[in-house]
Amino acid sequence: MSTDTQDRETTDGFHLVIDALKLNDIDTIFALPGIPITDFLRMSQAEGLKVISFRHEQHAGNAAAAAGFITGKPGICFTVSAPGFLNGLTALANATTNCFPMILISGSSEREIVDLQQGDYEEMDQLAVAKPLCKAAFRVLHAEDIGVGIARAIRSAVSGRPGGVYLDLPAKLFAQTMDKEAGRKSLIKVVDAAPRQIPAPEAVQRAVDLLKSARKPLVILGKGAAYAQADAEIKAFVEKSGIPYLPMSMAKGLLPDNHSQSASAARSYVLAEADVVMLVGARLNWLLSHGKGKTWGAGSGKEAGKQQFIQVDISPTEADSNVAIAAPVIGDIGSCISAFNQAMGSGWSKPPSDWTGAIAERKDKNLTKMAETLAKNPPVMNFHSALNVVRNTVKDNPKAYLVNEGANALDFTRSIVDMYEPRRRLDVGTWGIMGIGMGYAVAAAVVTGKPVVAVCGDSAFGFSGMEVETICRYNLPVCVVVFNNNGIYKGTDTNPRGTEVAPTVFVKNAKYELLMQAFGGHGVRADNPEQLKKALDEAIASGKPTLINAIIDETAGTESGRITSLNPAMAKKK
Ligand code: ADP
Ligand code: MG
Repeated sequence: MSTDTQDRETTDGFHLVIDALKLNDIDTIFALPGIPITDFLRMSQAEGLKVISFRHEQHAGNAAAAAGFITGKPGICFTVSAPGFLNGLTALANATTNCFPMILISGSSEREIVDLQQGDYEEMDQLAVAKPLCKAAFRVLHAEDIGVGIARAIRSAVSGRPGGVYLDLPAKLFAQTMDKEAGRKSLIKVVDAAPRQIPAPEAVQRAVDLLKSARKPLVILGKGAAYAQADAEIKAFVEKSGIPYLPMSMAKGLLPDNHSQSASAARSYVLAEADVVMLVGARLNWLLSHGKGKTWGAGSGKEAGKQQFIQVDISPTEADSNVAIAAPVIGDIGSCISAFNQAMGSGWSKPPSDWTGAIAERKDKNLTKMAETLAKNPPVMNFHSALNVVRNTVKDNPKAYLVNEGANALDFTRSIVDMYEPRRRLDVGTWGIMGIGMGYAVAAAVVTGKPVVAVCGDSAFGFSGMEVETICRYNLPVCVVVFNNNGIYKGTDTNPRGTEVAPTVFVKNAKYELLMQAFGGHGVRADNPEQLKKALDEAIASGKPTLINAIIDETAGTESGRITSLNPAMAKKK
């Protein structure tokens, strides 16, 4: 080749996007092919990226979000224009709400036509639509800006409070060419994408002084604490301080749920009684009754509502969002908790034993009661007898991932199934969203290679059920357990007019196991705990795609699970 032709060697938008992702250590993309990204996905695979292709964009997006939470790197999802983009948008908004780093990259139609609203194929001003629903949104019009576009997307997704980022790539961009060497030079390898944020020493001291003054201190660990991957610092802090803690649902396993300081089994007692509450990567949103009302301080007479809060968070505007925060500590959780460990010094005295003793007493009582309930073996499985099996499976396989969605299937699993390792529980998160099941399960299996057990209510499973084909296609070690109680909440509703079935009821005795069999996976029905245990054990040992249709008493659930108070009619009745 003469120097002359080498000089004229070109690259194109397709390859610049691929090279920019690879340069930034992104090795996996979740996607759904179609115009204008089909060739892009083929080329990505040819260039060594792992491309996981889904049946619906929402699940590709959810997979990217879960990958982001598990790895701390932005999860990448590619979608086609307008309808594909909109399908992915729910996942992007959900990722942002949950503070998971994710980048939704969507092909789009021609700007000239879109902006004049001349009716292009899949026409939509996607950037404008995405903007209010994510942390940041960018569009790249020229091949030479691809490097900057990808770099800005990565930084926006993972720095500060993580979240969802939208990147708009119009169809024309992919085919644009430029000089290969100039293209290479235009790419950016992002340095220190999620910089440490060191807390101010005086903020840490203020918080430590408040903790010291507490008679009934409590730590609440949220999924931000799990995401921060500061596991050793957090363990050291909890154990050195001796303070009882509550894990929010996705922080379960950050410390093993059977840890002596876990107050989960005395949750309502500690929330009501604690005088100083330290939030670590947890928000005082609806999941914590906004830090007020009868959940908080109801049991403490004169001191009702007198809790003081410490909030450790990367977002300075989170403090005071619901109640006054006496001691905000702003920084990344690793740096903040290290600073606490230092500031506590060597002479730290653990919380009074009347507090820890009172908690232990309630815990023992509640755990004994729970053990009795779990040991019962009713003729038709209920949530407890089925989850007792899942609980033991997770105990025997602590590195396995547990995906969980539903109403009763969610609430019961959260309280019954203990977790032992950080970031192993993936669930409906801040929104309480249904439909994350198969997307999260695929992501966990793909990025970790570990076994995944997905406990899904029959309704929840329906939102993403077609992705069992994806699970089979990539032969992933995913075992889906459908808690089949013939409907939403329960399967027993009737229509008073006697015409069509009630809105919450499904086809009775549905054979969900056949869905998995349809694509070559293992599908099996379980009518009792022995069958469920056998099927789960086999699934984990074989690593084969499996779906267990777990038959649950159709009368067993409660309306809206544990959030009955949010259901307008039920709340009125109370
Ligand atoms: P949960 O639902 O478990 O209570 P939330 O999603 O409500 O958790 O809260 C997570 C919090 O963690 C958010 O306020 C977010 O800003 C914060 N956060 C996320 N990552 C970090 C980090 N690395 N360091 C500090 N705070 C973080
Ligand atoms: Mg159900």
